[in-house]
Amino acid sequence: MLEKLLYLEQSDLTEFRTNIKKVNGNLVEFENTIIYPGGGGQPMDHANIIQNNKEFSVLEAKQEQSTIVYTLDGQLDPLKSVIQKINKIDRKQKTQYHTLLHVIAAVASQKYACKVSSSKIYDDHARIELLFPTSTKKNEFDKNIFWSAIQKVLSSNHPVTKKIISRENIGNENSKVRTVVSLIPKEIEMIRIVTIDDLDTEACAGTHVSNTNKISKNLIFTTQSKGSKKIRVKIEIIS
Ligand SMILES: [Zn+2]
Repeated sequence: MLEKLLYLEQSDLTEFRTNIKKVNGNLVEFENTIIYPGGGGQPMDHANIIQNNKEFSVLEAKQEQSTIVYTLDGQLDPLKSVIQKINKIDRKQKTQYHTLLHVIAAVASQKYACKVSSSKIYDDHARIELLFPTSTKKNEFDKNIFWSAIQKVLSSNHPVTKKIISRENIGNENSKVRTVVSLIPKEIEMIRIVTIDDLDTEACAGTHVSNTNKISKNLIFTTQSKGSKKIRVKIEIIS
């Protein structure tokens, strides 16, 4: 039986009681999970497991074919339920960073026909590398104009929604998705589509805010040239 990946449905859920599916030494599989295992440039959540008033740290998570296996710093009793607890402040920041990366990629795609060559979220900042189609296009890039376009998105209310579609039924949706769906590994049959209003549609299994107005306006935005066709954008939320 597949566990329910609650972090995909409710990214603001930071505490949850669940039963255990399997224990093998310090390795555990849960019936449900709110703990993001990491992936797509977003690191694993900072999480703890509480059982019988004892607290365990989650050290690692591994996405296996049909389940997520978490490594703890101790062994759980497989017959007793647990409370999963994730760091609220950290999750809140990561959902903001993750959604912000979508916004940056969408604006760069519309304005300069950029593609994303890589992106990564850290505990205190996030970065994204934008690949321009030509060096001429890159020379058109104006940091201030670009940043104003992003701030405009952040100052209005754009709902962020998600749905899961099977690869076969993706049909018309395909042309709207920023990442080429055919590049998504073949074993992934169900594709999660994250849409930011009329701005962006992307295949993504990360955690996001529910509206762009939930992203902090206290941001430091810096850019750095990385060769003739690439620019690295770094963003930092100041708390
Ligand atoms: Zn995402």
